[in-house]
Amino acid sequence: MSFSNPLNKLLSPPQDHNGLVCSVSGRKRTRWIKATAWLLLGQLWCGTVMAAGPRPKNIIFLIGDGMGVAQIWAGYTANKGMLNLERCKHIGFSKTYSADDYITDSAAGATAFSIGQKTNNHVIGQDATGKSQPTILELADKQGLATGMVVTCSVTHATPASFIAHQPHRKMDEAIAADFLATDIDVLVGGGRQYFAQREDKRNLLTELAGNKYQIPTTLEQFEAIKDGKVVALVADKHLAKMSEGRGDFEPRAVRKTMDLLSKNKKGFFLMVEGSQIDWGGHENDADYIAKEMQDFDKTIGVVLDWAKADGNTLVVITADHETGGFSIPSGDLQQGTFVGKFTTKDHTGVMVPVFAYGPGAEAFMGIYENNTIFGKFAEALSIKVPTK
Ligand SMILES: [Zn+2]
Repeated sequence: MSFSNPLNKLLSPPQDHNGLVCSVSGRKRTRWIKATAWLLLGQLWCGTVMAAGPRPKNIIFLIGDGMGVAQIWAGYTANKGMLNLERCKHIGFSKTYSADDYITDSAAGATAFSIGQKTNNHVIGQDATGKSQPTILELADKQGLATGMVVTCSVTHATPASFIAHQPHRKMDEAIAADFLATDIDVLVGGGRQYFAQREDKRNLLTELAGNKYQIPTTLEQFEAIKDGKVVALVADKHLAKMSEGRGDFEPRAVRKTMDLLSKNKKGFFLMVEGSQIDWGGHENDADYIAKEMQDFDKTIGVVLDWAKADGNTLVVITADHETGGFSIPSGDLQQGTFVGKFTTKDHTGVMVPVFAYGPGAEAFMGIYENNTIFGKFAEALSIKVPTK
């Protein structure tokens, strides 16, 4: 059987057409075998590296809360036929159900991404048995990468909380806020100041954060003026304003500044960005709310993709935790940028949601897969060691 083995063939001395060994001296033959072995090793090494594909230094993970295909189409229509999202060429679908329900909530949805296991609804950063598990953000931090989050809700809300806190219920805002003190996140931007500074236990977490060398700006402008170092920027008592009530270009600007700050770390960074209020438009069955929040999220996506393109070492992944509202668009006009929205529920639905990827490692996000496998794809891309659960 040795003739069918290419390894044997390569390591055998050259033969003539009759299968007779060509006349080579013993020394030449040894040299020939050595050269072939090195060539083979080289090929194996190249093969391994190439099979693994290019690896990113940074990951930017954007979650459009409640962003199904119709929500995306609402933004496309309101933009009169344009989305930055279309620049992503690697696309897949994520199955969103939680460990205990056909319909996930945002806590279980984000925890599946953050710890790599599906958990029960309402649970933050813990598995389905109630055990706290390290999140991708915490593991990235442990490995020396910079970490950050930018959201348009309270930073204690389900999605951002799931990347840092470990609590049995999403409603425990003050306990979740206290968990932020146990981490070493570099840049945190959003709302929720009241859960840090006006607490039942009378602790002032902002003072404690300042003691841990955090800068604590309270406006976007103050945040943008920061040159270096760790920052917690809580610009609202609870959630930020809706786009329709004057949030303006807060998120694209905050994300641009955060990327500039995090990229000072030579080892790379992990940044989570949430389009938090697309979901709330769905809960309120308000198609205009959805469209405006989707347009803002896509503007942020544009800023991120421009930055990633210039950087060349950044993987960008954009998806949703679930769809909200059973939203559909039975009619519309692309020239006018108008459409009619219909809803089937005031809650989330169980349908798959799209995943868009851009940059080195984007191929791994093609196909149809469980939401919790996104964690492993991130860990693999950043060569993050995952402790055995
Ligand atoms: Zn929701």
